[in-house]
Amino acid sequence: MKIDLFNIANFKIDGGAMFGVVPKALWSRVYRSDENNLIDLTLRSLIVETGKHKILADTGWGDKQDEKFFRHVNLHGGEGLLQGLKNRGYEPEDITDVFLTHLHADHCGGAIVKSKTGTGYEPAFRNATYHVSRTQWEWALKNNIREADSYPEENILPLGDSGRLNLIDEENELFPGFSVIFCYGHTPGLMIPIIKYGEKTIVYPGDLIPTVAHIPLIWNMSYDIESLKTIDEKEKLLKESLDNNYILVFQHDENVECCTLGLTPKGIRAKDKFLFSEIV
Ligand SMILES: [Zn+2]
Repeated sequence: MKIDLFNIANFKIDGGAMFGVVPKALWSRVYRSDENNLIDLTLRSLIVETGKHKILADTGWGDKQDEKFFRHVNLHGGEGLLQGLKNRGYEPEDITDVFLTHLHADHCGGAIVKSKTGTGYEPAFRNATYHVSRTQWEWALKNNIREADSYPEENILPLGDSGRLNLIDEENELFPGFSVIFCYGHTPGLMIPIIKYGEKTIVYPGDLIPTVAHIPLIWNMSYDIESLKTIDEKEKLLKESLDNNYILVFQHDENVECCTLGLTPKGIRAKDKFLFSEIV
């Protein structure tokens, strides 16, 4: 297995929304914000080569929306999606599988691009199968008032039309050494990869634990659809990760790429923090 991690871009988001009921007096001690209360998040994607598969996990915001949208999101830094792949020796057509943890726009937007022929949209990775949980797919298609901004139809409908969608029904080993578990608190059918890499196990918890600051059980995003489920799912994954010395890889943390866990009087917390390049 070959595995790598890269940051597509940074973006800005309201700090209060990212930390839910946690007062700013507390979260601002551990996560930097600007004068507008905005914080920087990364968009780290995994690329995994296993068996015959070259898998890209999550694709960032993409570039289909208008200038006003991207002014609001404020993308800056990072390697870019295609450039990040190129920097690691991959062309878009090399990718055999695009794994989407869920269909919120900052995770799946780059999977679909405006068609080169003019009108309409097409898959950005033309040889890839696109993997989404069936629960998340049906949830996003149905849409709802809380998540409507997260599911712009130009991200969702062309995926269905592509004929390349593989809907995952159950937790299993999707690719050699690459298993998934399902979560429902952030959004129904969020998929979390658990990857066996030699002696190590790497977890990519996505929006269940977006930054190292979200390890404490009640430090959760306002975006979560069902907070109590998030807490239960997080507790279970953190315990399993602590017991088995898993490495957590954070998709959104501007400072911390990876950590191991330790037990403290306050509960499970980050122990060692390190770069992804230190484990591969
Ligand atoms: Zn999300």
